[in-house]
Amino acid sequence: MLEIDAALKIVLDNTPVLRSETVDLDRALGLALAEDLLSPEPIPLFDSSAMDGFAVHSGDVAGADEQNPVTLKIAALSRAGEPYTGPVPEGTAVKIMTGAVVPSGADAVVMKEYVDEQAGTILVKRAALRGDHIRRRGEEFAEGQTALDAGTLVTPPVIGLLATLGFGAIAVRPNPAVSIIVTGSELKSPGEELKRGQIRDANTPALVAALRAIGIEPVSAERVADDGGTIASRLAAALESSDVTITVGGVSVGDFDLVKDVAEEIGVETLFWRIAMKPGKPNYFGKKGSSLLFGLPGNPVSALVSFHELVKPALRAMAGRIGVDRGTFRARLAKDLKKRSHRIEFVRGRLGRDAEGELAVQPLTFQESHKLGTLSRADCFIRFPKEETFLEAGAKVTVEPLIWSMP
Ligand code: AMP
Ligand code: MG
Repeated sequence: MLEIDAALKIVLDNTPVLRSETVDLDRALGLALAEDLLSPEPIPLFDSSAMDGFAVHSGDVAGADEQNPVTLKIAALSRAGEPYTGPVPEGTAVKIMTGAVVPSGADAVVMKEYVDEQAGTILVKRAALRGDHIRRRGEEFAEGQTALDAGTLVTPPVIGLLATLGFGAIAVRPNPAVSIIVTGSELKSPGEELKRGQIRDANTPALVAALRAIGIEPVSAERVADDGGTIASRLAAALESSDVTITVGGVSVGDFDLVKDVAEEIGVETLFWRIAMKPGKPNYFGKKGSSLLFGLPGNPVSALVSFHELVKPALRAMAGRIGVDRGTFRARLAKDLKKRSHRIEFVRGRLGRDAEGELAVQPLTFQESHKLGTLSRADCFIRFPKEETFLEAGAKVTVEPLIWSMP
């Protein structure tokens, strides 16, 4: 059976990057930059003061200290946005505020804290070196230098930097259009009466939430009965209108697991079916044109684990994001773990610290794929490798943080 890494490679190899579009800065949050952005001018734009204080000739105050303060005449005031453009003769200082232009002639700023101000003069009680507390023009970005790389996620600091650089609109990759189709004749919504054998549909709200948590509002989310004709027409419509269609349930080997056959009937090319992972074995992936189809298993934990491991990386790649690696780390296992399967297992766990203050991970009891309670409490997956059957308490294991909102 296919390994998870091989499955993920097939997914990413078949995932197109969406075409870029230009959006206003205030619509860009959470999207990825479509191209490298070069600084159109030197940043900072001018030499400015990093402190409230006095702009001086460093030579004038080279020997200043508490015992031997240096007296300087205040020549002028330089405020943020209101520079002083006159000369700064030797033996004088310009009172200056943070962010104000350093007047030409002055080559250092003495912090206000090291100065006694009197009427028209100051006593400087500290030496200053050339360049002290001056933010140099172009020291962060030279004109034409790459300030942000294509694929960078637009976060609040990126928005701030884009504004600093003067970009009012930028090229980004849009988020993919995603449709959800949840199958199962036994499913009802909260508030609906349950007849014997019926259960509440956890997957529609959970997957809608999983998408929203990464900033994607699904195009549609609907529930259908295990009926071939209905699934075929809804699936065809979803594939037509979406970049990604996610079906849930009906993709295993039961008599009413119709998704795979129906998908093939309506022209979806099957790229894999079933992965050697637990939970999440009956996973389907196919494509029709450039439209992707993920057929996730119906057990709610399997559906969300599959979403996390397979769908999310594809959504990120489509949206042009760099750094698709989910970033695992190592932690000490807090108790023995056994398994019988010959598949990689994603064991729900909680992170904490051991007596030495090292990261330790506690596997949660109840790992079955219908038990959402433990997935609700988990903050990580312990990756229990395929070939291992026993992991001993105290051993270092590979842990993957489970952050639903991670974009
Ligand atoms: P399936 O993959 O359709 O064979 O479903 C596997 C198991 O998950 C069955 O016990 C289903 O009743 C259950 N299941 C399927 N879909 C949902 C859902 N939307 N919410 C809760 N349980 C579900
Ligand atoms: Mg079903």
